[in-house]
Parts: sequence; structure tokens; C-alpha cells
Amino acid sequence: MLLQRLKHGLKRWWRQRNFSIWYAPSYRLPLTSLASHHRLDPRRAEFALWYLLDVHSVEHSQVHTPTKVSFKDLARVHQPQYLESLNHAKTLASIFTVDPWDIPTEQLVNSYRLACGGTLQGARFALEKNGIAFNLLGGFHHASPHRSGPLCPINDIAVAIETIRDEGFQGQVVVLDLDAHPPDGTEDCLKHAPKVWLGSLSAADWGPLPHTDETVLPLGCDDQTYQTALQALLHRMPTPDLAFVIAGGDVLADDHMGGLGLSLKGVRQRDRLVDNILAGTPSVWLPGGGYHPNAWKVLTGTGLILTTGSTASIPKGYLDREREANTFTLLPSTTQAQSNLSEENTDE
Ligand SMILES: [Zn+2]
Repeated sequence: MLLQRLKHGLKRWWRQRNFSIWYAPSYRLPLTSLASHHRLDPRRAEFALWYLLDVHSVEHSQVHTPTKVSFKDLARVHQPQYLESLNHAKTLASIFTVDPWDIPTEQLVNSYRLACGGTLQGARFALEKNGIAFNLLGGFHHASPHRSGPLCPINDIAVAIETIRDEGFQGQVVVLDLDAHPPDGTEDCLKHAPKVWLGSLSAADWGPLPHTDETVLPLGCDDQTYQTALQALLHRMPTPDLAFVIAGGDVLADDHMGGLGLSLKGVRQRDRLVDNILAGTPSVWLPGGGYHPNAWKVLTGTGLILTTGSTASIPKGYLDREREANTFTLLPSTTQAQSNLSEENTDE
């Protein structure tokens, strides 16, 4: 019993020293129609951060503001011409399937560059501290070198990997993609990258992914079936020196776009299993998609597992009570920013 408590205390101490969150107010994507079109709540990141701070799973000193990824780093993965095209509302409108008039181009590009910066800076932190980075926006796994995918204009994981490689990191990388959709863009970006293993559990077959250890689960797949498939995937995973985990928020039953059937408890078990396997490995955790009113609870639950290991459920009506009490004041609205993607306006 005493040993158990000591072990728990030690783990908590280690996590406090070696765990950091990346977040910016601009993670609230500036698209008014996101919620109605995709049922993606733009406030997911701030709800999660609010809760984690409120229950003291995370201290303010552990929250970092990312800096925007540079054009130079983006161009390690994406073709310059493609990056230029992202300065146009029409291109972005097709990625988010909204009308061009609904696209605040500069703000939106700014949000994605910040998120991509968060993933890269999280990877550097994880390697330097042998720690865990939790970026509250990222996992844009449908973006390829020269084309976008749904909600994914740029591929933050691929950009982070190529950049840290250039900075000298030579170890084995694993990308555990646990979003409900397959990592078609990440596969395309990294298919020739040495010492990168990509594993995926999803509910959709979007065609062959020859460089990915892919498992397509049955529609509505329950917690137990998912756990069994995840254990098998983790068993096949090589020993990593750095891990990226997309702890997808769209795996819940009744998610608008996911197709899987996990419970909130089942998702927490997913995260705990992966966290245990990766213990001691530098890792970067990302939210991926999430199109269900409880998607913020999935993200928050990931944070709880990574910090305290708590599997306690989030009280029902928590956000409503916070709003009523007028204590939910974490964040200003999305900031304005000048952030065109062009070679002239880049490496700040
Ligand atoms: Zn997804």
C-alpha cells in the first residue's frame, strides 16, 4: 500500500516536471459555420485547458504558447506552390467545406501555423526533457505534400518529424494514429522517411496505405473490440525513441463523422493503455478530430491520463455550471494576425 502510494506520488512528481501543454487563444478556429457544418466545437481546446487547470491537473507554468511554424519548416514537407495557394479563401473554403465568404484567411492560416508550431515545439520539448507534450490542436493527418484533406491544410506531424531530423535527431519515430479516420496524408508525407513507423486504428477504409500498419475496425466497434485491436497494434509497434499520438476525439459512439462506438470510459482506457506502453518515451499527444458534444471531454480525459492518471469522469453539466457562475473566463476571443504563407513573410 505504502509502496503503491510512493509510486503514484513519484509518477505525479515526474509528470509535473516533464509535462507541458501547448495552447493559444487562436486555437479557437475562426469559422462560424464549423459547429453547424461539422459539429466541431471551436472551443474544445479551451474547455479542456480550463478543466485541467480547474482541477489542478495542470499548473499555469506548464502551459506554453506556441510560435507560428515557419515557411521554411512547412516547405520541408509541402510544396511551395501548394503553400501559396493556402493564402486564398477559395482554397481554404474547399478544405473546410464552407463558403469562401466565411473564411477569414489570415486568422485561419495563423491558427494552423500556431498549431503546427505547437506540435514541433512539443517534439523538441519531449526530446530535450524526455517528457510528454500535449498540443491542444493538431494531428492534421489528411494533408499531403501537395494537397489538403478534410480540415487539414498542413500536416503538423510530418513537418515536426522532418524538422527535428534536420536538427539532428536520428532515432526511431512512431506515429500512433488513433483518430477514427485513416492517416492518408501522413502516409503520403512520410512514405520515404527512414525510421518512421505509422500505425492506425480507424473505422474507415479510404484505400490502400502500403506504408501504414492499418487496422480498419467494424462500424460501431465497442470498447472491448477496440482494446483488443489496440493491444495487437501496440504489440507490433517498434520500440520508439519519439512517439506522436493522435488521441482522436472522434471515436465516441454517435460521433457525427467517426463511425466507431467507444464510450468515454473506453477512450480513457485507450489513452491509459498507450500512456503505459510509452512510459519513459518522449511523446507528443494531439487531439485529431472530434464531432460530438462530448469531444472536449475526450481531450480533457487525455490530459487527465497524461498528468494524474485519473480515470474519474468529468461531472455532468460542468461547463454549464461554470458558465452560469461566470467563472469560465480563461480566454479572449480569437486574435487577429498577419500570417500569410509566403516566402517573404515567414521565419519569425
Ligand atoms: Zn477523424
